[in-house]
Amino acid sequence: MPTVYFVIPCYNEEEVLPETSKQLTAKLDSLKEKGLIDDKSRVLLVDDGSKDKTWELIEKLNAENAYFEGVKLAHNRGHQHALLAGLETAAPRCDCAISLDADLQDDVNALDEFIVKFNEGCDVVYGVRNKRETDSVFKRSTAQGFYRVMKALGVDIVFNHADYRLMSRRALEALSEYKEVNLFLRGIVPLIGYRSDYVYYDRHERFAGESKYPLKKMISFAIDGITSFSVRPLKLISNLGIIISILSVFGLIYALVSFFMGVAVAGWTATVASIWFLGGLQMLSIGVVGGYIGKIYSEVKSRPRYKIETFLKNETDKGQNKE
Ligand code: UDP
Ligand code: MG
Repeated sequence: MPTVYFVIPCYNEEEVLPETSKQLTAKLDSLKEKGLIDDKSRVLLVDDGSKDKTWELIEKLNAENAYFEGVKLAHNRGHQHALLAGLETAAPRCDCAISLDADLQDDVNALDEFIVKFNEGCDVVYGVRNKRETDSVFKRSTAQGFYRVMKALGVDIVFNHADYRLMSRRALEALSEYKEVNLFLRGIVPLIGYRSDYVYYDRHERFAGESKYPLKKMISFAIDGITSFSVRPLKLISNLGIIISILSVFGLIYALVSFFMGVAVAGWTATVASIWFLGGLQMLSIGVVGGYIGKIYSEVKSRPRYKIETFLKNETDKGQNKE
C-alpha cells in the first residue's frame, strides 16, 4: 500500500476549507478502507500567503484531524509555486503525491483511479477533463485556444489537463531538478518522461468563494507558459524580417518604375524604397539577436538534460556464467 500525499495550494480559501476538509476526510477514510492508501497518507495544505483566516483554519485542522498537515509560505507566490512547495515537501515522505485545488473542482471520486494507475506502475497520472460544461463560454474558448497555441508552438502539453495529477516520488525528485523561476508545471511534467497515463473526470463548479484566477492572471499565465517553453516567437521575427526584405525588392522595383514613368513625386522613390528595405533589415537583425537570446535563455534555465529511466545493472562476474 502506498503512502499518498494530497497536496493542495490554498489562497484565501477560508470559505471552502471547512467543506473541503470534510469531503477529503471522508475520501481518505474510504481509500484506506479499500486498501488503496496506508496509514501514513496525509493531506498537505499549502497556505500561499493568504490574507484571510486560511492559516488559522489549517492550524485547527492539523490539531484536530490526524490527516492534515500544513505548510505556510512567507508570502503569496502564486498557484504554481505554492504547488511546487507542497510537492517538494511531500516528496521525501510519500510514495506518490496528488495535486488538487482547494475548491474541489477536481472530482475527488477520480482519486481511486489515480492510485490504481500508480499501483500498475505509472509514474505520472494526468487528470483530464471530460467536458467543460461548467465553464463560461469565454473561459472555455480561451482555454481551448491556449492549448492549441501551445501545441502549435511546439510545447508538449496534455489537452484539457490542468494541475490535477499524480506524481510518483521519483517523478517528484526529477521535477525538483528543473530549477526555472518561471514555473509552468504542466509544461515541465511531460518533459520528465516516465510512464504516464490519464484519468478522465468531470470538473465541478467552485462551491464557495471566488476564482483566484481573474482574466489578468490567466493571460499572464498563458504568456508565461509560452515564453517559458518556446523560442519560436523569436524565430517568427526572423522569418518576418526575411519576408519583408524580399518584399522590399518588389517595393523597390515598383518605386523605380513609378520614378521612370514620371508619376512619382520628387523624393518619394528613395523614401519608400528605404523604408521597406530598412524595415526588413531591422526585423531580420532583431531576429538574429533574438536567436542568440533564445540560446542564452535555454542555457540560463539549466534544465537537466536527460533523465535515466532504468539502469540495467549486470553485476555477475564474467567468470561465473562459465559452468
Ligand atoms: N491559488 C494559490 N495562489 C494564488 C491563486 C490561487 O495557491 O495566488 C490556489 C487556490 O487556492 C486554488 C487553486 O490555486 O486552490 C486554483 O485556484 P482557483 O480555483 O481560484 O482557480 P480556477 O479554478 O478558477 O482556475
Ligand atoms: Mg478553482
